[in-house]
Amino acid sequence: MPEFDVVVVGGGGSGLAAAARSVERGLSVMVLEKQARLGGTTGIAVGSFTANRTAYQSRAQVTDDLEAHVEDAGKFAIPEIEARNNDELRRFFLDRAVETLDWLVSMGLSFHGPSPEPPNRVPRMHNVIPNAKAYIAALQSKILRGGGEILCGASVERLITDSERVIGVKVVRDGIEASYIARRGVILAAGDYANSSELISRFKGERFSSVEGINPHAQGDGHRLAESAGAKLLNMDITYGPELRFVSPPSSRRGFTQLLPSSGPASRILGRLLPLVPKRVINAFIKRLLVTWQHPEDKLFREGAILINQNGERFCDENRSQERELAVARQPEKSAYILLDERLITLFSQWPNFISTAPEIAYAYVEDYLKLRPDVSTSAPSLTQLAASRGLSGAELEKTVSTINQERRSSGGQPLEGARWVLLGPVRTYFTTTEGGAAINQRFQVLDREERPIPGLYAVGQNGLGGQILWGHGLHIAWAMTSGRMAADQL
Ligand SMILES: Cc1cc2nc3c(=O)[nH]c(=O)nc-3n(C[C@H](O)[C@H](O)[C@H](O)COP(=O)(O)OP(=O)(O)OC[C@H]3O[C@@H](n4cnc5c(N)ncnc54)[C@H](O)[C@@H]3O)c2cc1C
Repeated sequence: MPEFDVVVVGGGGSGLAAAARSVERGLSVMVLEKQARLGGTTGIAVGSFTANRTAYQSRAQVTDDLEAHVEDAGKFAIPEIEARNNDELRRFFLDRAVETLDWLVSMGLSFHGPSPEPPNRVPRMHNVIPNAKAYIAALQSKILRGGGEILCGASVERLITDSERVIGVKVVRDGIEASYIARRGVILAAGDYANSSELISRFKGERFSSVEGINPHAQGDGHRLAESAGAKLLNMDITYGPELRFVSPPSSRRGFTQLLPSSGPASRILGRLLPLVPKRVINAFIKRLLVTWQHPEDKLFREGAILINQNGERFCDENRSQERELAVARQPEKSAYILLDERLITLFSQWPNFISTAPEIAYAYVEDYLKLRPDVSTSAPSLTQLAASRGLSGAELEKTVSTINQERRSSGGQPLEGARWVLLGPVRTYFTTTEGGAAINQRFQVLDREERPIPGLYAVGQNGLGGQILWGHGLHIAWAMTSGRMAADQL
């Protein structure tokens, strides 16, 4: 049986960070990745990394400190959720994230920012250039140059234990079972369970089980492996979402950011040149990211936009959030469209009414969608033409609009009317990520139900959240990289 010092389960952000740090320390490491390629959710993310006291902040003359960040990080989630945070662990993490950012920069990665994201009192968000795939490329290259091994298409199915500790894993690859022994430890880094209807149903409730994860491969294998070893799982009912998001662009139209160099000398040159690039070019570039995977603002519905399904029918009260998301998940093809009339098109064409945003970085309006995402936006002078452009029934759409207009006229509301119409969508209901994870200590050891370390078993990234609430942009990736880097230091 092949033996390594460290066996890492999962080749996304946290697993690759753990492996990269392991090779830096001179340890032998094997990364086992279930999918045909590396990346996981990290590889499809925007790439923001939030940290305090960074060199980027100093260069931008931003004064920051740990206590301020600890306080601000607690302002993102609603109080009931925040009350369940592991304060001690999140503080420990926020104190170390800056070292991780420096470490990533030392690998040649470059960042844009810091950008503001209220309620953070100062700018703390750093966006990797050109996008989160850069993390994967840089870490993979470091691992391979350092003699680490990576095996894709290798699904870890079980942990191997002896009488005292976890000593390795059982893997299935191309239908063949194999075992890998870990002399110092197995690190679980298998991502979240946003697309596991079994775990969602078990921990959050059956009515959420039809909601999908943005990453279809986020199946919670790491959580199940941890559970099989007796781990205590925390906050498993807390999820980021469900929320409405536009479906992803067809891969042919993923946008030029995917074509930019994400590693090697070209990316370093890109990074150095970035400060010289005019702000409007950077904003155009970030706008591309913004119309990918973003969710439509609730304000659209407050101002009167309606949701219709593939049959052209209205099916919910658009202003009841949560019920609205669950209703979309029950519609044909689990999707819906957002209908805007002329008044709403004009309203959502300029500040402060935008369709989607990465706060304080850029805002996308109706015209941005029509230009950059024609796959999820269409415009026409009549409802019949609008419906036809998406293969919907014009007659049904006319009927739906006439019914809502009668209701609105009788209650003094704004009817839907005019000489221009826009249909945005399909939108679907997604969990972006999940906040549940194994209990860990500050050595990243997985804890059992009595809070004792399970010898030989470590958890990082979404597997080892340890009860932290990491809402807001940029903390999940900062945690994935920080926990991966630091876990390897414990072995
Ligand atoms: C669209 C989107 C955008 C986001 N943008 C940001 C952002 O900009 N900033 C931020 O902080 N957070 C962001 N997030 C969240 C963040 O990307 C993730 O929480 C984080 O990257 C997770 O890292 P990870 O290493 O824990 O998991 P992943 O990156 O998902 O890695 C897990 C890996 O384990 C593999 N795996 C799973 N099961 C097995 C198995 N049985 N055997 C072997 N391998 C297995 C998976 O295939 C995967 O490659 C975003 C999320 C989404 C969905």
